[in-house]
Amino acid sequence: MYSIAIDGPSSSGKSSVADELARRLNILHLNTGELYRAIGYYAYINGVASTVDEEGIPQLSDWETSKLIKDVIVDVKFINHRQHTYVNGEDVTDYLHTPIISDYSSRVSAIPKVRDHVLELQRSIARSQNVVMEGRDITSHVLPKSKYKFFITASAEVRAQRRFEEEVNKGIKTSYEEVLEDIKLRDKRDTTRKVCPLVITSDSVVVDTTDLTLDEAVDKVMSYIKEQ
Ligand code: C5P
Repeated sequence: MYSIAIDGPSSSGKSSVADELARRLNILHLNTGELYRAIGYYAYINGVASTVDEEGIPQLSDWETSKLIKDVIVDVKFINHRQHTYVNGEDVTDYLHTPIISDYSSRVSAIPKVRDHVLELQRSIARSQNVVMEGRDITSHVLPKSKYKFFITASAEVRAQRRFEEEVNKGIKTSYEEVLEDIKLRDKRDTTRKVCPLVITSDSVVVDTTDLTLDEAVDKVMSYIKEQ
């Protein structure tokens, strides 16, 4: 059994790289951001975590904490190699990529008990199958013993441009400036939060995709894997 651990900031291209890598190696790709997005979706729909402090950390009442911890069961299934993400049995995959859910996913991901719940699911998947797993704390916390570790990044401006184009294609009304601001806010939250912040571990290979096509980025990652 082996795993490939990938971390990186939002819209760095890590999901696309992980997807293509998994396709070439014929193994699963687990996008762990989807798990936090699913919990963020639940929080949004149920009016939980609607207020945040100046650092973007939700101020949860006891009722909200208990709702997020006890009432949410997240699960994934892979159907034709595509990840489907479930909250309490409902397939929410198609609702997870809107700006509001991006914001809520980043809010709930700062809550330690939410992370514990997701951690168990991630590790159980890696125990039972070969997987490319990507997120923010995979190399540092979820699969620290993984033989292959990568940090995929790109400049904030290029990431904003990529996401802006994606959102426009989906018919979402937004502007480049708005997307850039959101990316910077999420970067700050992800890198400065107390629990499992986004870091570059000393044993990760950094791949900067700013000037690379998807295929070039995947070729680079593959060549490091073959070298080991
Ligand atoms: O990767 P993606 O942008 O879809 O992730 C959504 C949010 O989930 C991120 O903003 C981040 O706060 C959180 N996340 C995390 N740890 C992970 C994956 C995602 O905290 N392993």
